[in-house]
Amino acid sequence: MASLLSHHVGGRRWSDDDARRGEVFDPATGRVSRHVPLASASTVARVVEVAHEAFTTWRWSTLAQRTRVLFAFRTLVDAHRDELAALIVAEHGKVHDDALGEVQRGLEVVEFACGIPHLLKGGHSVEVSSGVDSWSLRQPLGVVAGITPFNFPAMVPMWMFPLAIACGNTFVLKPSEKDPSVSVRLAELWTEAGLPDGVFNVVHGDREAVDALLTAPDVAAVSFVGSTPIARHVFTTATTHGKRVQALGGAKNHLVVLPDADVELAADAAVAAAFGSAGERCMAISAVVAVGDVGDRLVPAIANRMAALRVGPGTDPQAEMGPLVTAEHRDRVAGYVATGADEGAEVVVDGRGLTVEGAEDGFWLGPCLLDHVTPDMAVHRDEIFGPVLSVVRVGTHADAIALVNANPYGNGTAVFTDSGREARRFQQQIEVGMVGVNVPIPVPMAYYAFGGWKDSLFGDTYVHGTEGVHFYTRGKVVTARWPEQGAGTAAAGTSSLH
Ligand code: NAD
Repeated sequence: MASLLSHHVGGRRWSDDDARRGEVFDPATGRVSRHVPLASASTVARVVEVAHEAFTTWRWSTLAQRTRVLFAFRTLVDAHRDELAALIVAEHGKVHDDALGEVQRGLEVVEFACGIPHLLKGGHSVEVSSGVDSWSLRQPLGVVAGITPFNFPAMVPMWMFPLAIACGNTFVLKPSEKDPSVSVRLAELWTEAGLPDGVFNVVHGDREAVDALLTAPDVAAVSFVGSTPIARHVFTTATTHGKRVQALGGAKNHLVVLPDADVELAADAAVAAAFGSAGERCMAISAVVAVGDVGDRLVPAIANRMAALRVGPGTDPQAEMGPLVTAEHRDRVAGYVATGADEGAEVVVDGRGLTVEGAEDGFWLGPCLLDHVTPDMAVHRDEIFGPVLSVVRVGTHADAIALVNANPYGNGTAVFTDSGREARRFQQQIEVGMVGVNVPIPVPMAYYAFGGWKDSLFGDTYVHGTEGVHFYTRGKVVTARWPEQGAGTAAAGTSSLH
């Protein structure tokens, strides 16, 4: 029988046998591999209490204590990267190399957080008035909640908690119930690294647990990553309850190919960016915008590469693309191929009906390519979040920019061109948060901030980078005078400051 996962609270496993249960699948076999407890609101309240209690001491930990733990955690994650990747493969389904890549990107945020003494330095002005100095400092918020999606079960939580903890907060993570195991392993590594009990906690659950976190009086801030409707709900509910919120939503990312682009390079980029992790990436390219006559050369070049893509279990070292996360999601994504055809798109490559020998019950869908897609079609309007790439053909670069800007999402985009002038025009005029020039997936490094525009982000602070430090701290400015003994009462007044 499939085992029941535990929460991880106060530095140890917390069983929750009475909780409702969710099923966790191995997407490559289609079998239930374990069950996950779905915490009730009262369980969440107890977890928040543990984190709140831990905050009373962690907030006063020295910078040296925090960096020692962060460096130890960094070493442990590095040493366990293969094991963490295997846990991701087993529940998400992506191929092992992709899973290793996400552990690496998460690790880079831990490395950035190791520099917290420098990141938390304030400014100091001497003699702002006679005998008066002034300086700024930043202090932690309290208990911070992280609510994360299925598609990067290690990296997205690691966008959040290294900096939140480094800033002196305590953290409650509610990971996706579809692939929750890697979070628990990360919690164990924190404990091994010497993080005091209760500073990092994992509570599993679904909507009930999320809503309990959004309304809990002792949760000071919420970082959310997931789909746009839930991001909007999280933002509205948590801000109504007085919390600081950053809520990153869904995406529809366009790769614009200009007629002067290197078509072979653009085709390589389109295939890697559309079908890596089976298209279940918020920065995946789901639409190619072919400008002028470039589509006639680009579409066959993409289709040729797709024919060579090897689909198989994430544990197969030869596989380049794994299954989708659940049968329900696979069916929804496959449904878009039929919808596209009904709406008049040309199905150039049809990945439906793919079977993988020896793993016939896995949640498979081969890569799909639709040409002559128009902006009004559902395949272009909706975030599909699977291995379906659309090609939209437009006349000019200006048309391409207008098409991207008309989309409600604004997460990532890229232009492929040989012209610096056209690339600059694109970069200046495009209404999207992360922009690539001859780079298909322009994910910012840990020391920059990650985030989109429009329906891809609710709130005004991106994740990680110095914006992350800002999100997880509150500023204070101190103005101080130390008058000579007996200098009189006049000197203590505030009027002399003006
Ligand atoms: P999701 O919105 O279904 O779930 C995200 C989290 O919200 C999960 O922890 C889930 O348990 C919780 N949740 C789900 N339904 C809820 C409800 N009704 N009320 C309260 N909480 C609820 O997203 P997903 O399917 O896990 O992940 C895929 C989505 O995440 C895609 O839309 C993708 O674009 C987006 N995403 C965005 C980014 C980004 O940086 N903008 C990064 C990764 C993923």
